[in-house]
Amino acid sequence: MHETMELTRANRGYDRVLSSMCTYPHPVAVRAHIEYIHTNLGDPNLFPEIAAFERRAITILGGYLGAADAVGYITSGGTESNIQAVRASKLLSGTRKPNIVVPESAHQSFEKARDFTGVEVRQASLDERHAVDVNAVDELVDENTICIVGIAGTTALGAIDPIPALAQVARENDAFLHVDAAFGGFVIPFLEKKYRFDFRVGGVRSIAVDPHKMGMSTIPSGGLLFKRPADFDAISTNTFYSVERSMAGTRGGASVAATLAVLEHLGVNGYRDVVRECMRLTNLCVEEAAGFGVYPVIPPVMNIIAFKLPGLQQIALRLTARGWRISVMGGALRIVIMPHIDETTILEFLNDLKELVKV
Ligand code: PLP
Repeated sequence: MHETMELTRANRGYDRVLSSMCTYPHPVAVRAHIEYIHTNLGDPNLFPEIAAFERRAITILGGYLGAADAVGYITSGGTESNIQAVRASKLLSGTRKPNIVVPESAHQSFEKARDFTGVEVRQASLDERHAVDVNAVDELVDENTICIVGIAGTTALGAIDPIPALAQVARENDAFLHVDAAFGGFVIPFLEKKYRFDFRVGGVRSIAVDPHKMGMSTIPSGGLLFKRPADFDAISTNTFYSVERSMAGTRGGASVAATLAVLEHLGVNGYRDVVRECMRLTNLCVEEAAGFGVYPVIPPVMNIIAFKLPGLQQIALRLTARGWRISVMGGALRIVIMPHIDETTILEFLNDLKELVKV
């Protein structure tokens, strides 16, 4: 193993971590990151090679998301991507009292988007599958709605919103449709079951997809992609040395190099293998837990499981005392089966859970 990876592990790393949407970066990403650690994409003229890396990375991501000609940039993560998408929709709209409609399951980055841009954020309720209720969205939309947000892989449950139906509402109301696939963007394209959630759905204008989550790149690497160049241009600012479309000015090129390196190294087959193994362990975990009477809130769509548990807080505390890092979200015990989790870890976790559920 690469010596840098050993350093990372010595620093506790992700042992018994079931709460994170991040994981060990792939060794090829780590190597590229180190090699380009000095680079600054805030001045692409100084680092044209990295600027070209970024364009290549966006083309590959666009290809996974149904539009190889998409444009965009490598952000610091899903939060920046979501804020920038809302900002783009606001700059494009010209509406004086704009609002956006997001699912109740939306990530808190949309609250930050509200604070930065001044848009009102309306929350639409969810249906029994914990995906957004399209009728609720339809009721909240009015002539001042500039953007509708759909989530492809919610933070708490990994649920996928009905993007084609949201696209229809967006088209009918002339609103921008942003898909937050920060987590799911590196899972859904590689699942056996197919979902319509990306640029192939007419009306999807931008997508957030994070290489630093299931993409196995280094932190910070997010991706913000736009179908139309004019939408990306909406967030451009002229500097005295170039045109900037990012939120940050000075920004590292290292994670851009890391992202391209791992994208090219793993490719479709590599990511499919990663996702297949995560899903195998997810299904194993659900089946074994059912054996002692513990069930998920929804059958997992991706590698996120939220278990319904009586005595949740007590069990969570005891699991934490045994060294497990888990989350309590939406009244459930939520775990994410990332690539650093192996079968032995899952079986150890299940043993502990079984013991604690019986107490
Ligand atoms: N969107 C979704 C669906 C997420 O799950 C997350 C993080 O968990 C984010 C956005 C924010 O990503 P980041 O923490 O990289 O800013």
